[in-house]
Amino acid sequence: MAKEKSKHEKYVYYFGGKKADGKSDMKNLLGGKGANLAEMVNLKLPVPAGFTITTEVCTFYYKNNKNYPKELNKQVEEALAKIEKDMGPLFGDSKNPLLLSVRSGARSSMPGMMETVLNVGLNNKTREGLIKKTGNPRFVYDSQRRLIQMYSDVVMEKAAGIEPKEGKGIRVQLEHEMHKMKVARKVKFDNELTADDLKKLIEIYKVKVKEVLGIPFPDDPKEQLWGAISAVFQSWNGKRAISYRNIEGIPHEWGTAVSVQSMVFGNMGDTSATGVAFTRNPATGEKYFYGEWLPNAQGEDVVAGIRTPNPINEVGKTEHTTGQTSLEIAMPKAYKELDNVQKKLEKHYRDMLDIEFTIQEGKLFMLQCRVGKRNGPAAVKMAIDMHKEKLISKEEAVLRVKPEQLDELLHPMIDVKAEKKAVILGKGLPAGPGGAVGQIVFTSQDAVDWKKKGKKVILAREETNPEDIEGMRAAESILTARGGMTSHAALVARGWGKCCIVGVSTAQIDAHKKTLTFGDKVFKEGDIITLNGTKGLIYEGALPLVNLTEENEDFNAFLRICDKVRKLKIRTNADTPKDAIKARAFGAEGIGLFRTEHMFYGENSDKPLFLLRKMIASNSLNERKAALNELFPYVKEDIKGTMAAMDGLPVTFRTLDPPLHEFMPHSQEGKEKLAKSLKISVDDFNKRAENLQESNPMMGHRGVRLAITYPEIAEMQIRAIFEATAELIKEKKNPFPEIMIPVTCTEKEIAHQLVIVKNIYQEVIKKFKLKEIPYMFGTMIEIPRAALTADKIAQHAEFFSFGTNDLTQMGFGFSRDDTGAFMAEYINQGILPDDPFAILDQEGIGQLMEIAVTRGRKTRKNLKIGICGEHGGEPSSIEFCHSLGFNYVSCSPFRVPIARLAAAHAAAKEILYHGKKK
Ligand code: PEP
Ligand code: MG
Repeated sequence: MAKEKSKHEKYVYYFGGKKADGKSDMKNLLGGKGANLAEMVNLKLPVPAGFTITTEVCTFYYKNNKNYPKELNKQVEEALAKIEKDMGPLFGDSKNPLLLSVRSGARSSMPGMMETVLNVGLNNKTREGLIKKTGNPRFVYDSQRRLIQMYSDVVMEKAAGIEPKEGKGIRVQLEHEMHKMKVARKVKFDNELTADDLKKLIEIYKVKVKEVLGIPFPDDPKEQLWGAISAVFQSWNGKRAISYRNIEGIPHEWGTAVSVQSMVFGNMGDTSATGVAFTRNPATGEKYFYGEWLPNAQGEDVVAGIRTPNPINEVGKTEHTTGQTSLEIAMPKAYKELDNVQKKLEKHYRDMLDIEFTIQEGKLFMLQCRVGKRNGPAAVKMAIDMHKEKLISKEEAVLRVKPEQLDELLHPMIDVKAEKKAVILGKGLPAGPGGAVGQIVFTSQDAVDWKKKGKKVILAREETNPEDIEGMRAAESILTARGGMTSHAALVARGWGKCCIVGVSTAQIDAHKKTLTFGDKVFKEGDIITLNGTKGLIYEGALPLVNLTEENEDFNAFLRICDKVRKLKIRTNADTPKDAIKARAFGAEGIGLFRTEHMFYGENSDKPLFLLRKMIASNSLNERKAALNELFPYVKEDIKGTMAAMDGLPVTFRTLDPPLHEFMPHSQEGKEKLAKSLKISVDDFNKRAENLQESNPMMGHRGVRLAITYPEIAEMQIRAIFEATAELIKEKKNPFPEIMIPVTCTEKEIAHQLVIVKNIYQEVIKKFKLKEIPYMFGTMIEIPRAALTADKIAQHAEFFSFGTNDLTQMGFGFSRDDTGAFMAEYINQGILPDDPFAILDQEGIGQLMEIAVTRGRKTRKNLKIGICGEHGGEPSSIEFCHSLGFNYVSCSPFRVPIARLAAAHAAAKEILYHGKKK
């Protein structure tokens, strides 16, 4: 490979003394750790001196066959000399030796994924100087044996690409030697071994290293240092780090920086200590200094959980820790200093920080600081508090909470600790977030019956269809073996805020035998399982759930901040007055999609469904009109109830969309029953039903095509909308209907529908003696051709609503109900970045949307634009809609809060990152 010269000539950034070369906004070059260490030095905080080798060296290293830029050695030497000058001890000196730590630091934190080497610079000579200096031989020998253990594992084995057999790695073998020593000395713990024991162990270790790895342990401090630096660079491409980056979406070409820092010791006796702390409680968000510490210990001991740490202060004590000694009491002077440092840091960074410190013989040193990780409730509380404290602006406050963190407050979740320990049975698509525990049932009817008996059930189905709706409603949660993110089950479950996992391809569901099988594990009806619908994971048995939403005042206060920032309106997809009320409580500002067909499923649908079926099975126009007349009052009542619930806000009613055969019974028994009620023979019924059969119904006789071939259906619906509105106006209400035509592909279709709308409008205002009825007329844009001819369509339509479920289906040519067989593989192989039915494909489908917006608004400047496909509740898609200048997004009721947040994120980013005026 051709050698490449790096752009920057400066590869090493010093920090120490009074001023550092770097600062906190140089994370790309110095990694998070290096940038923050530099910043702490600039803030005059006590930081052991050191230097950071840039991420560019890492990229250079990999591009140049694992060679370094030639200037690097000199720059490292110069930085080392500076450390010696600032700190006093000399690297490799036998009287007053300097020891170093060598750590990784990527731009974005990758906790525990890369390597660290401590105590670099110790050998049989330098240790003598350290023993004299500290008067503590046991500590020195212990540090040296730790170095050998860590270095031989990280540098000599892992970085050298040696892959030992299970249990044969050098670390395990050395641990075994230590164990033998403990047995021989009849002691239980490492810290019971004496200085002499450890001294002997060091020699045993060295022999073992030579024997296992074939080369001697390096005694030369410089060789140790360069070995450790290379090992950290190597660990950027270790298996763990690569998989972590794949999961977190961190680019592989970023590279890691390496921070080399002089060692300070928390294990030098009882006046030494180490700890990890947060400037606020990261689990609750409460404003107090929170943390843990251990006397006479090194950092690893706290993190690794070898010893149970103590609370850092008195306020942080819980019922479990009352008996323990806090740092505040044990070392008041150092604690006071630490408390001042943490206050200063939080004020400077204007965020909650995670800090690591060491106290060496009473003197405090800061080893690390970074923005602390937090859970959902804590993120929300801290954003509100910090905004109140005037630490952050409202735009910053909204960006402090990720959509998935807000989601945590909306659903019961599986207890995190319990979930960590549980064994995963299978994995599917996370269609409806939250956790659920229940007994497995296999039919919709069983779900309903068991629920009546007070049982909590999980409905397991091969796939679901509208006939399962009652069972889905009754179940705690739904699991299907097939289907994608916009499959029927997913759509319905999300609408109800129900936990749901679809497309679990490793599950075999046998509805006849009533078994659910994962590999050789067979579950029967009534067995209990737990689902994590946020991640798509299934567990055996009942895991504990926690509920965070209840009466969460912070949640509402936070969303009020979001509302001040966002520009997009948020509507909801709701089809019943009940859902409308719920969505309004979540902050919906209108309904963006009322699917009229939903009144034929679920609660109280028997009568209207029968009348609809009667209409479908009609043999003549007259018969059909008669059935429609009977149906009319039900449709009007539903529409009126929903508009009343949304009084003062717009409601978009979509005319009938699905192909008619979807409403017909499929079982023989159902068909016979219906034929009987319709007073026709089964044969006759079958003939009529057969006429409705289509090979490709999703692209067949549906949407506006139905309204053109059977205009009387559209007329009935439009009349119901106008009459319901007129009645509400008479009742002094404030209704605002929007009539929306589905599956439009050409301007002529919508012109055709507009004539019907205008005619019925005239009839209704006459009938109700009204001067006017406010309303809008528009269409869905869900067929690529409609997007491309939007300029023409906008001549008639006053609004567009993007149906991105169908637009994705038709744009990709993927059937939205049949992606289960290949989608996971497409994502695994990186052919698609995500499931485009869940996350809008901005690159392709997004272009169609952009074209439609531009062309539509060219014809009609004030064209109202929204989205009502499932993407209307997905954060990145919402941000995209904002960027295209949409007026609103519409999503299921439970997604409304997330959409309010995502819309605020989009607006806040424009202001904070792109300098747009407020
Ligand atoms: C869509 O296609 O995006 C849409 C909202 O309509 P439906 O899902 O009902 O087809
Ligand atoms: Mg559609």
